[in-house]
Amino acid sequence: MNRPVLALDLGGTQVRAAVIQADGSRVARHATATPSEQGPDAVIQACIDTLAAARTDAPGGLDADLAGIGVSSPGPVNPWTGVIVSPPNLGSDFHDIPIASRLEAALGLPVYLERDTNVAALGEQAFGAARGVDDFLYVTVSTGIGGAIVSDGHLILGPDATAGELGHVSIELDGPPCGCGGRGHLEAISSGVALARDARDAVARGTSPFLVARAAASPDGPHGLDARDVAEGEDAGDGVCMRLMDHARRAFAMACAGFVNTFNPDLIVIGGSIAEHQGDRLLDPARAEIKRGSFATPAARVRLVPPVLGPDVSLAGAQPLVAARLSDDRWRAGRARLDVARPPARP
Ligand SMILES: [Zn+2]
Repeated sequence: MNRPVLALDLGGTQVRAAVIQADGSRVARHATATPSEQGPDAVIQACIDTLAAARTDAPGGLDADLAGIGVSSPGPVNPWTGVIVSPPNLGSDFHDIPIASRLEAALGLPVYLERDTNVAALGEQAFGAARGVDDFLYVTVSTGIGGAIVSDGHLILGPDATAGELGHVSIELDGPPCGCGGRGHLEAISSGVALARDARDAVARGTSPFLVARAAASPDGPHGLDARDVAEGEDAGDGVCMRLMDHARRAFAMACAGFVNTFNPDLIVIGGSIAEHQGDRLLDPARAEIKRGSFATPAARVRLVPPVLGPDVSLAGAQPLVAARLSDDRWRAGRARLDVARPPARP
């Protein structure tokens, strides 16, 4: 499909929209702060207004050719019904929101909803690091750890669309509790939330002079600390920060070695703010662990690479998302089937 689409990236801090052309170029960008504190209706209205502004700004008759709207949202989502189930960052009332039907009614275009990491994977596959690759994983290491699985060219969704939650695999028996209710998950060890928690613990115990000083300088005290403080403490030679960062990287490396055995990917695209800042400091231990601990044949094949689309990845992915679903005759049938099913559980 060579038609442009409208893209919406609904995030906890910003609502962004743009027109995405078939070559992946992004034009007519608009953004506004997500009014989460004003409730779901205000968030939906912000989405409609931002999309309408992008459509109005579309240059050279692109607006008449728009094929549909691709929506990226934090999970869990039901992509068949177009319902956002219960994302953690969009306000306490924001659950079971039928965003696709609301946007369709307001804007008169078919709307396809997908989890942000899945949209990002489609973007990298169409225009970025995974161009021409049929078997790859997308992992984001940021505040949380999310992922997507593309196998034989297709996103793996599972019957509840929760497949690809690669941050919620257990790495440590009796490890720390995860935000999802599980224990010892990768996200509970290597994410920004986990490192911030460990930083607060270190301040409470007084074991890290670097973090104690940082907390004292922060207006929010220990609650102002995040992963970047721990990373900077490592660079400054603070022993606790060095151990925390090393532990986080080793847990990530173990997970990647397991992913190689489980999925046999050609490529693992590793994005997110922590991965971006750490670069090969995060990827090299994972490469070494794959070489040491994964099956030899898939280990020899797989490459670990950064993404290339940056913060636009979820916007760009809207074009291949709409293209794939418009041309999939079974998509609407699947949607009907899942209308009667229990909505996906929170991953
Ligand atoms: Zn978890």
